[in-house]
Amino acid sequence: MRETHSKRVLVTGGAGFLGSHLCEYLLGQGHDVLCVDNFYTGTKRNIAHLLGHPRFEPMRHDVTFPLYVEVDDIYNLACPASPIHYQNDPVQTTKTSVHGAINMLGLAKRVKARILQASTSEVYGDPQEHPQTEHYWGHVNPIGIRSCYDEGKRCAETLFMDYRRQHKLNVKIARIFNTYGPRMHPNDGRVVSNFIMQALANEPITIYGDGSQTRSFCFVDDLIRGFDALMQSPDGFCGPVNLGNPVEHTMLELAERIVSLCHSRSDIVFRPLPSDDPTRRRPDISLARDMLGWEPEVKLNEGLSRTIAYFRELRAAETGDLAA
Ligand code: NAD
Ligand code: UDP
Ligand code: UDP
Repeated sequence: MRETHSKRVLVTGGAGFLGSHLCEYLLGQGHDVLCVDNFYTGTKRNIAHLLGHPRFEPMRHDVTFPLYVEVDDIYNLACPASPIHYQNDPVQTTKTSVHGAINMLGLAKRVKARILQASTSEVYGDPQEHPQTEHYWGHVNPIGIRSCYDEGKRCAETLFMDYRRQHKLNVKIARIFNTYGPRMHPNDGRVVSNFIMQALANEPITIYGDGSQTRSFCFVDDLIRGFDALMQSPDGFCGPVNLGNPVEHTMLELAERIVSLCHSRSDIVFRPLPSDDPTRRRPDISLARDMLGWEPEVKLNEGLSRTIAYFRELRAAETGDLAA
């Protein structure tokens, strides 16, 4: 869907995996993009191809500090997203979600911008209901090692809804389920990147637990279309809305698929399951289908093949070995 006129759009976390795809998409729609990032987990490499674009402006800034700019739309993505990254400095993770939300909401209030929050399926914790609809309140440990992320994101949702009720802000909340694609971090410990890097190196594929736990994986291009549809949804609709792929896979099945697509000689090995690791996760996306007319289109094998091609290039660039 195309906006009728060009807008000034702020993307926080714009140098990250999802943020860099979103910046690219918005530039493609003819908007001016201000990409704010403190490069905690994002990289300049992710946005290098956008730097010469006349409508693209990168800005090094930490969203836990106030930001005074003039924009029409705000996508608030700034936050480390993988357990390795967000557990590295858990206090900063909570600050980024909570103080970052307050600052971006304060900015949206001052300039009367629409603002979309990148929330997460982790607000459901280790869910006791399956699949998860937006009505489910979640099953979250408030004091565990994942809590800085889960509770930070829950508090950010609270702030978004209170700014809507109290200050009449036009807010949108996307609950993102596991997303994958080119520009994922190769070393962030996520299952898709781990398995692909291991398979390409013909090293053992590490399955945590017995591999029967499930996740559903959404290709990044599908998710970005979902962000756009949500931002452009009627003012009366704020979500939260699940954005993800409803097709569920076990980790064992994912490992076998990746080994096969990489033509790898890797064996599968089993390692202990991390604490608080959710057993099952799959979005119910009825609301997104009904309200946004959105659903994922890219099949897992196609998305994995495109992601594998990216990681092959990355390895070749890093090792100088074009046969990688
Ligand atoms: P990412 O780590 O690649 O991107 C996050 C970006 O935020 C990075 O560029 C990082 O440098 C930046 N950042 C972190 N703290 C910041 C701060 N204080 N100030 C400014 N910038 C800061 O992760 P991603 O996968 O692109 O995730 C983007 C958003 O989507 C996150 O909010 C994440 O919680 C959410 N999300 C992602 C997924 C997924 O599967 N990728 C799933 C659910 C939710
Ligand atoms: N803020 C910001 N940019 C703005 C306006 C506000 O970063 O353009 C921050 C500011 O630090 C403030 C926070 O957003 O503390 C919340 O703003 P709000 O107006 O809601 O509350 P208050 O100013 O009363 O704290
Ligand atoms: N996982 C795995 N091997 C790995 C990395 C992850 O079996 O090398 C498992 C992990 O225990 C979890 C699932 O894969 O059950 C998804 O993990 P990820 O960290 O990608 O996402 P999240 O747990 O946040 O959904």
